[in-house]
Amino acid sequence: MSDSAGTVSDMQERYNPFTGKRIVDGLDDPVPAAAALGLEPPRYCEQCGRRMIVQVSPDGWWAECSRHGVLESAHLERR
Ligand SMILES: [Zn+2]
Repeated sequence: MSDSAGTVSDMQERYNPFTGKRIVDGLDDPVPAAAALGLEPPRYCEQCGRRMIVQVSPDGWWAECSRHGVLESAHLERR
């Protein structure tokens, strides 16, 4: 375990919603172009990395994590 960089932080973990991979600070995690535009629904929960139930509708999409609830494309567009 000598090659891990310093301390393990207890900060909130985040996951790439498209790949389900853990997001590490300082490492670029490529997001597909369509996904960056909000056209593609996420498949994994950003907060826990679980696979979500994804439903695409004419208005957009929603995705549901069994722990963190529903994420809707409409919310993201309203930022
Ligand atoms: Zn979750």
